[in-house]
Amino acid sequence: MSTTTPEIQALDDDFRGELVHPGEPAYDDLRKVWNGSIDRRPGLIARCTGVADIRSALAYARRTGGPVAIRGGGHSFPGHSTCDGGILLDLALLKGIRVDPVRRTARAQAGVLLGELDRETQAFGLATPSGIVTHTGLAGLTLGGGIGWLMRKYGLSIDNLLSVDVVTAEGELVTASEDVNPDLFWGIRGGGGNFGIVTEFEFRLHPVGPIVYGGLLAWPMDRSPELLRFYRDWITDVPDELTTAIIHRWLPAVPTIPAELHGRPVVAMVVNYCGSIEDGERVVAPLKAFAPPLLDLCTARPFLSLQSMLDPSFPRGRWYYMRACDVGELTDEVIDIAVERGLAIDSPYTSYPIFQLGGAISRVPADSTAFGGRTSGHTFNFVGATPGPEGFDAQQDWVRESSRAMEPHQSGVYVNFLTDEGPARIRSAYGPSTYNRLQSLKQKYDPTNLFHLNQNIPPN
Ligand code: FAD
Repeated sequence: MSTTTPEIQALDDDFRGELVHPGEPAYDDLRKVWNGSIDRRPGLIARCTGVADIRSALAYARRTGGPVAIRGGGHSFPGHSTCDGGILLDLALLKGIRVDPVRRTARAQAGVLLGELDRETQAFGLATPSGIVTHTGLAGLTLGGGIGWLMRKYGLSIDNLLSVDVVTAEGELVTASEDVNPDLFWGIRGGGGNFGIVTEFEFRLHPVGPIVYGGLLAWPMDRSPELLRFYRDWITDVPDELTTAIIHRWLPAVPTIPAELHGRPVVAMVVNYCGSIEDGERVVAPLKAFAPPLLDLCTARPFLSLQSMLDPSFPRGRWYYMRACDVGELTDEVIDIAVERGLAIDSPYTSYPIFQLGGAISRVPADSTAFGGRTSGHTFNFVGATPGPEGFDAQQDWVRESSRAMEPHQSGVYVNFLTDEGPARIRSAYGPSTYNRLQSLKQKYDPTNLFHLNQNIPPN
C-alpha cells in the first residue's frame, strides 16, 4: 500500500480521476502496456478525467521531479508511455468523440483508440486516415504522423488535423492550428509528445465506404521473388485510391483463415481501395491474375472490417521487438533482401509489413509539417514476437539481422516505428533542418525537457 506524502495528499485533494498506487488491486493491470516485454513500475498512476486533472498531475510532477510518462493507447513499441518511479498520466478515460457530419469534422479526446473513432465517423459514412490496428491509440499515432489504409488518397493523419488542444509543460492550455500558435501546430504534426500533452484533436473527415473493396491475398512464400517484382511494376500505375502492404509471415491461426492453411509461410498482400467497388475490382484484378492465390479474402466489405482485419495478429501482452526503415524504391537488391528475410522467419508470431507510401503523402510540402518521410516509397517494419520471454532473444536477432541487411538501402525511418535506437536515429527520422527547427520549438515549449519519455528532441 502507498505511503501518503504531503505532495500526494495535495494531488489527491485536487484530482477528480483515480490515483492508483503500487500494491493496490488495479495497479498491476494498469501499469501494463501493449508490449509484454516492457515491465515498469510507475510510482503513481494518475487516471485523468480532463484538463484540470492533467494540470494537477503535471504540477505534482514538477514539484516532485521524477519522470513523467504520458499514455494514450499504450502502443509505443519501446514502452515510452510508462516509467519506473515518477508518475504515469494515463489518458485512457478521455474517450469523448464528437462528429460534425455537416462540416465533416470530428473532435476526439486523447484516450480514444482508432477503432473507436472509426465507429463514430462511419456512422455517417465518413473517416479520417489512421492506422491498421484498431486498438492503437489515436494520440501517439497522430503525433508521429499516422500511416494507414487511406493515406495515399487522403494523406497522413496529421495532414487531416485541423487543430489540437495542448497542455504545456507549465500547465497552460493552448490551442494550436494553422492560425493559432502555428509553430506549435507545425511541430505537433510529426514531433510526437515532445511539446506538451494533447488533450483533444480535431480532424477533417472524408466520405469512405461504408463498403470498400479490400482485404488480404496470400501466395506461398516461395513465390515472393516474382510477386515482389510484379508488384513493383504494377504499383507504378495504380490510382491513389489504392493503398497496399506486403506481409511476409506464417498464416496465423485465426477464424477467418481455413485451418489447413494455419502456419503456412506466405507472402501476403493487403489492399484497400477507397473508391467504388467496381473500380476496386478492376484495379486489383491484375494482382489477382498474377497467380492464383492460396487465400483470397479480398472482397467488398465494410471499411470497419478492413480496419480490424489485422487486430488478432498483434494482441496485447505478447513480447514484441521491432526495427524499421524507409526505402526509396524496391530495387532488385531490396527485393532479394526482403525475400531472404521472409524465408528466414521461424516463428508463427513474427512478421514484417512493407507499407506502400506515396500518393497524397508525397504532395504535401516537406516543410509544412515535421513528418520526415514525404518522399519515401515504402516503409519496412520488422516485428519479432513471442507469446512470452521464451525464444524472444532469437526473434530479436532476426529483427536486428533484417535491419542490418536493409541498412545500406534505407532512406530514413518513421518516428513511430523507432525503438530505443539513440539520438542519431531520431535525427535521421527528421533530417537536419526539421530536427533543428524541432529543437528550437522544444526550447520554447519545454525548456527543462519535462516530456522526455518519447523519441526525445532535447532543447537547444
Ligand atoms: P502510447 O504508448 O500511449 O504513446 C506513445 C508516445 O506518445 C509516448 O511517448 C507518449 O508519451 C506519447 N503520447 C501519447 N499520448 C499523448 C498525448 N495525448 N499527448 C502527448 N504525447 C502523447 N503507426 C502508424 O502510423 N500506422 C499504423 O498502422 C500503426 N500500426 C500499429 C500497430 C500496432 C499493433 C502498434 C503497436 C503500433 C502501430 N503503429 C502504427 C505505431 C504507433 O503509431 C505508435 O506506437 C504510437 O506511438 C501509438 O500510440 P499510442 O497512443 O497507442 O501510444
